[in-house]
Amino acid sequence: MATTRRDFIRSTAILGGAMLVAPTRASPSSYPPKGWLPAYARLEQEGKLEERIEQAFDATQACTLCPRQCGVDRRNGEKGYCRAPKKVTVYSAQPHFGEEVSLVGEGGSGTIFFSHCNLRCVFCQNWPISHKGRGDRLDDEELAGMMLRLQRIGCHNINLVTPTHVMPHILNATRIAYKKGLLLPLVYNTSGYERVEILRLLDGIVDIYLPDAKFMDGKQSAKYSAGAADYPELTRAAILEMHAQVGQHVTDEWGHALRGLMIRHLVMPNRVAGTQEFVRWVAEEISPATYVNIMAQYHVAWEANDYEEIGRAITAAEFLEAMDWADEAGLTNLDPRCRANRRLFRRYGKT
Ligand code: SF4
Repeated sequence: MATTRRDFIRSTAILGGAMLVAPTRASPSSYPPKGWLPAYARLEQEGKLEERIEQAFDATQACTLCPRQCGVDRRNGEKGYCRAPKKVTVYSAQPHFGEEVSLVGEGGSGTIFFSHCNLRCVFCQNWPISHKGRGDRLDDEELAGMMLRLQRIGCHNINLVTPTHVMPHILNATRIAYKKGLLLPLVYNTSGYERVEILRLLDGIVDIYLPDAKFMDGKQSAKYSAGAADYPELTRAAILEMHAQVGQHVTDEWGHALRGLMIRHLVMPNRVAGTQEFVRWVAEEISPATYVNIMAQYHVAWEANDYEEIGRAITAAEFLEAMDWADEAGLTNLDPRCRANRRLFRRYGKT
């Protein structure tokens, strides 16, 4: 799929945010580092990747890829809750400079935005893609070509945005691309609404997990994420599985992420996201050294205006208390951008 300048502007306007903190170290002469191999390369060399792909596609026959477990026959084009068609649908594939600092580096994070979503929140910030399903339908060879193009233009990783419902296609495309020279780490950039049984298929394939932890209270997730009352419980289990697979955030000597767990938490108005409980849970159940990005960019989108509690942006006070809770919990590895945001809110924010 050809990418025009307009496409690039479209995606960054909807999804972006300028990079607030630039890496300070000199550019590497090569990326990824010499001798480093992504997890999927090792699995392919061991002869195990093909079998995993088959197992993943098997899960789409009576679809159990995500906690919705619709049971529809995706291989024959039946649609479940996510509304995903038989072929993978992609909205854009671009270097993205609004992601976490260690993902962006100098060349950007190679984001591929998949259309449709299995969670479908009422406040979705990417609603034209996730709810409306805008994008182009591709076969797996074309998806592999996108990955290779992102590598060719200097991106540091393949950042798979909303991958859960199309995971088997992603694995197949990754294998095709690897055979043609792909060597970038895969970033599994998910809402967190995952099944542990399915995540186990990704063990030894994904190097970087980037899950959201949106809610800690099932009443909130049921209300704002289409009845998903089990979101907090399942997401906690999913994040623990991710951590067991890839461990803590690891970078190369220039600060580019190579492996590990990076958790995102969006602060919401009126403490809806359960931030204090979230940061305590991370510190106690994973580690205080876990990479966490406390995000400030909540804005009223999609149907959020219909809900009084979330029908406004967050205040400076709400973001600052979230950061204080992270400190009180003892988190030591917060994304530099949220620290930069704290400085901005302290200096200019209105409470
Ligand atoms: S991936 Fe889609 S079809 Fe499959 S269980 Fe989830 S929502 Fe249903």
